[in-house]
Formats: sequence, C-alpha cells, structure tokens
Amino acid sequence: MKDSISIFWFRRDLRLNDNAALYHSLKSNYKVLPIFIFDKNILDKLEDKKDARVEFILKTINELDKDLKKDGSGIKVFYGVPKDIFSLLLKDFDIKEVYSNHDYEPYAKERDEEIKELLKKSNIDFYTFKDQCILEYNEVLKDDGKPYTVFTPYKNKYLKILTEDHLKPYPDKENSNNLYKNKGFDIPTLTEMGFQKTEINIPDKIYKNVVKDYYEKRNFPSIEGTSRISLHLRYGTISIRELATEGRKNSETWLSELIWRDFYFQILANFPHVAKGSFRPEYDKIKWRNNEVEFKAWCDGKTGYPIVDAGMRQLNESGFMHNRVRMIVASFLTKHLLIDWRWGEAYFAKKLLDFELSSNNGGWQWAAGSGTDAAPYFRIFNPEEQTKKFDKDLKYIRKWVPDFQEFSYPKPIVEHKMARERCLKVYGETLKK
Ligand code: FAD
Repeated sequence: MKDSISIFWFRRDLRLNDNAALYHSLKSNYKVLPIFIFDKNILDKLEDKKDARVEFILKTINELDKDLKKDGSGIKVFYGVPKDIFSLLLKDFDIKEVYSNHDYEPYAKERDEEIKELLKKSNIDFYTFKDQCILEYNEVLKDDGKPYTVFTPYKNKYLKILTEDHLKPYPDKENSNNLYKNKGFDIPTLTEMGFQKTEINIPDKIYKNVVKDYYEKRNFPSIEGTSRISLHLRYGTISIRELATEGRKNSETWLSELIWRDFYFQILANFPHVAKGSFRPEYDKIKWRNNEVEFKAWCDGKTGYPIVDAGMRQLNESGFMHNRVRMIVASFLTKHLLIDWRWGEAYFAKKLLDFELSSNNGGWQWAAGSGTDAAPYFRIFNPEEQTKKFDKDLKYIRKWVPDFQEFSYPKPIVEHKMARERCLKVYGETLKK
C-alpha cells in the first residue's frame, strides 16, 4: 500500500526556520515529505556549466537534508522537469496535499499552474503561501485599487500598512514530528547534472554589522558598507521577515532598500510585460546602436572607463557588483554606448549570484529610463564625476583594475561629451514622436 503523505516543495525558500509553507504543511493531517527539484527547464538554459548558483543550491540542499535527518527525515531530491517528477510522485505515494510558497516570475507561475492542474485531476489541493516578500503585489495598492508605479508613494502606503504581524516569524520546531520518516534519499551530484565546481566564494549570512551605519556607508563600493545578503534572499536561505525586523529597529534606509525589492516584485507581478519589453512602450522604439564589439568590451571590463571596468571585472570574478556601480555600468551601456538594456540585463542574469528577475529588470529599466520610476533620460551618469563622489581615493578601482594606469589599459571606448549628446539626440528624437 502507498503511504499517504503531504508534500512540501522547496523552491526559493531553502530554510527550515521561519518558512510559511513548511510551517503550514507540518500542521496538516499527513506526514510531510519535503522535496526539491533541480528543474531541467531552468538548468538546461544555463550556458556556463560552471555556475556557482547551482553549486550553492546543492550545498544548501545537502545541509537541509542533514538537519532533517536529525528528525529521522530527509529531502527527496530530483533532477528533471517538475511535471514529470510530480507524475512519478503520484505513482509512488498517495499524495493528499501539496504545499509551497508563492513565486511571482512568469515561468514559475506557468509551472505552478501546470502542477496545480495535474494535481487537480487526482483531487489533490495545492496550497501556496506568501513567503519571499513582506507585502505582496495585491497588498499595497493606490486608493483606486491600482498598483503603484512610483516608489515613494508606494513606500509611504507600505509603511502605513506594515505591522508587527507581517514580520512575525513562523515557528519552526513546533510540528517537526510530523515529518515523513525515511532512511534518506540519494541526492544528485553536480557532475550528474552536468555542472562543475567553481572557485567563487559565497558570502556569509552576516548583515547586522552593516545595518547600523548603512545610511552613511552604503554608497561606497570600496568599503564593506552593504550586507551582501542578496544571494541569501534570492534563495531564501534567510527570512525576509528577520531582515525587515532588523531594519525597523535599527535603520530606516535598510528597510527602505528591502521595500525596493518588494516594489519590483509587485511591478513584475502586476505588469508582466516588463520581463520582455519596456515598462513604457515608447522606449521600445529607441534605435539602439547595439555594437557587438563595444558590448564585448563592456562585458570584459575593457571600456577604458576605470569605474565601469572595475564593476564589470568585479562581476566577472566574484559574481557580485556593488549597487552604486551596477547603476553606473548600466547607465554607461544604455546611454553612452546606446546598447539595448536587455543585453545588459541578460549578461547580469548570467553572472550575478543574486540574479533576481524582478530587481534586475527594474534596475536596468531604471538606468535606461524606460522603467516605472526611472531616472529621466536626460540624466546621464558621468563616470568621472561618479568616481569622484563614490571612489575618490580610487580604492575600488585599484582593487579590480590594477592596470588602469598602465600603457596597456584600453583608451576610452567612447568620448563622454560626444556620447552624452548622441544619447540625448537619439532618445529625444524617439520620445518626441
Ligand atoms: P544591501 O545594500 O545590503 O541591501 C540589502 C538588500 O536590500 C539587498 O540584498 C536587496 O535584497 C535589497 N535591495 C537593495 N537595493 C535594492 C534595489 N535597488 N532594488 C531592489 N532591492 C534592493 N538586486 C538583486 O537582488 N538581484 C538582481 O539581479 C539585481 N540586479 C540589479 C541590476 C541593476 C542594473 C541595478 C541597478 C540593481 C540591481 N539589484 C539587484 C539591486 C541591488 O543592486 C542589489 O540588491 C544589491 O547590490 C545587493 O547587494 P547587498 O545585498 O549588499 O545590498
């Protein structure tokens, strides 16, 4: 006879503590089997088979499995296509309920719909919960019920709505005796999934030390003034409620940055067209130059603009780039080189350990001027001025571009004044029409 169970499906919430759907699943009337699927639909699209994100997920899954073993349980881990995996599970178990946390990305929404339909055929309920953000796409709306598209009023409304209750952690140990007991399952290795080890270091989950001075230090890329917590938020190895509680206590600016994250989640959920095109459609008419040689120089950190090159080399070598520099390199690509923001967005998606469709897309559209709450197109970052303001001792530049004063360092790929005027002309002509 098949075991009657509930399933808890881990996705981007890789933790046992303060996890909404896991908590609810453990209150169900059936023993809970935790599962994780290395989704072939996603992994097959990753061109570079040395990907620190896949490695990080696998390492985390192994750690979670070890923790679950303490309760006599373990994660059943799969490598395949979610629909096929659920069909397999339906054959092996008498599944009563499935629990998971909400995911707002277009692919994830489609995937969840498909699984929901499949389960429905066997009369199985698929319960999903809010977990990855504090306030969801339909919780912070204008008085007329429409979503906000400008950050400041969104944030003001958000802060009015936010209460202690939203930040209360879900108890974790309460019902762990309700886990499905098993002798452990095999977990696929990196090699079995076609991936290789990398040399990239994953930052620790330490953030409290930066929160206190966050306001003063967050804009300077050479100092450790930001938390590097983004990767952990991306994969849910830390709870957003915990981070926001810290912000509420100790730093309004920190909380505000976390609200930006929710802002972009709701933009993607409410305006899914942004995943493919400009939020403001008129920006899709811009005649990008899209010069491939220049694009390659930008990717490789060889534009001859040290602050831009430092950012790109930091990204290529570490999988991270400081926020201030993300804004500078994105502005440079779209405005100075007139290269389509989607090219830059896609390159970041490949390289960033913390790649998050919503924030990445929001950041790029902000820089290109095509986004919801974008900088007006005539505001063009001057890389030299940015350097004077945010890296005046050239510490960040020296770290990532030690050759910047050498003869071999490339000459500027484009002259600033000319590029600025060219950009104003192209944007101006397109947007006037
Ligand atoms: P901290 O300064 O310590 O901030 C704490 C947390 O607040 C971050 O981890 C993040 O979750 C959130 N946060 C901070 N700033 C922003 C912001 N501007 N927008 C949304 N959330 C924010 N962030 C991603 O998580 N993934 C991305 O793929 C991504 N792509 C970006 C692309 C561009 C072009 C730009 C301009 C920004 C992008 N950001 C992205 C936002 C921001 O740069 C990163 O969240 C931040 O640099 C992560 O470093 P940290 O954890 O040290 O940040």
